[in-house]
Amino acid sequence: MTTCLGYAAHDAHSPLTPFRFERRALRADDVAIAIAYCGVCHSDAHQVHNDWNNTLYPIVPGHEIVGHVTAVGSGVSRFKVGDPVAVGCQVDSCMQCAPCHDHQEQLCAHGPTPTYNGKDRHTGDTTYGGYAEHIVVREQFVLRMPRRLDPRYAAPLLCAGITVWNPMRRYNVGKGTKMAVVGLGGLGHLAVKLGVALGAEVTVITSSPGKAEDARALGAKHVLLSRDSAAMAAAANAFAFIIDTIPSRHDVNPYLMLLGREGVMVLVGAIEPLEPIHGGLLIRNNRTLAGSLIGGIQAIQELLAFCAEHQVLPSCEMIAIQDINQAFERLQHNDVKYRFVIDMTSLRELNQ
Ligand code: NAP
Ligand code: ZN
Repeated sequence: MTTCLGYAAHDAHSPLTPFRFERRALRADDVAIAIAYCGVCHSDAHQVHNDWNNTLYPIVPGHEIVGHVTAVGSGVSRFKVGDPVAVGCQVDSCMQCAPCHDHQEQLCAHGPTPTYNGKDRHTGDTTYGGYAEHIVVREQFVLRMPRRLDPRYAAPLLCAGITVWNPMRRYNVGKGTKMAVVGLGGLGHLAVKLGVALGAEVTVITSSPGKAEDARALGAKHVLLSRDSAAMAAAANAFAFIIDTIPSRHDVNPYLMLLGREGVMVLVGAIEPLEPIHGGLLIRNNRTLAGSLIGGIQAIQELLAFCAEHQVLPSCEMIAIQDINQAFERLQHNDVKYRFVIDMTSLRELNQ
């Protein structure tokens, strides 16, 4: 076991504070990773605040992890000390069920092991995430970082990126696809960048008039203000694919209305009951409303390769770990452009 310094919340209402805990000794198939950067996902805030009623305290959040290998277990063959690596939202799964066989470990029939706020499959211990100095992860769940991908900006790809990439690939977003992104935050801004890189014609639908200029700078062709009912009505039937990243309960009907024939809208943000959906809106135009949960290891590796090749990099605001509570506060107030990333050297300074 190795002592690790991280930041934890001890209940739903107190700030995160420094917290020492043990990382397990390496199993044969484990990789030990020194964490250099960790992204701050809206899910981290949801879970710290127990929004989903399943938080195990103390909680060490963080599932957008970039670093390098510091040690490997006796049976590890794919990684060696010094390799640049990354870890996303899950650190284990059963590896036996149909979804695991189909490279969709995030849908494991026996439940994937989340990077934090989960239970280790062997010991039952609570998993602790990437707001920490280092982490131990089963080899199969460690991503290889392409050399051409700048590690300072890669972390948000591990959750925000794969969450939007996976449905975009599933529904064949490509050259000329008329695509809309609802909510220009961590997930949304990557949907714009990836959509543009795939050749789609991207529209941003935002509740924030102040983001219009940014949306265009990110590559969006058009911007729609969700509160502008005339503009929304004029865009009826306009899109083949919509990705909805709004992080809380909302009314999806105004967005469904924008789908054209056989159009698909994918919900990735709101995990709670939605406002009632108008059946007629789905039936007309043969529309589909779908959901999507992150992505499997192979898909993340594919995304990292795509981003290295096309130099698609998240827009990151670097913070010190000491600023994490302020960052959560700003996230709640929709004040981030477009992902906070913790530079872990700040944690090491604390340790000296
Ligand atoms: P974020 O950075 O806070 O972005 C969310 C965006 O949604 C905001 O920037 C804002 O964009 C818009 N928004 C916020 N509140 C709204 C409201 N009440 N009504 C309308 N629009 C609103 O969050 P994120 O990190 O992108 O995460 C988004 C959601 O996805 C979170 O709920 C997170 O837990 C979830 N998530 C899901 C998965 C998955 O596997 N499905 C994975 C990761 C995260 P505008 O200012 O442009 O309106
Ligand atoms: Zn996340």
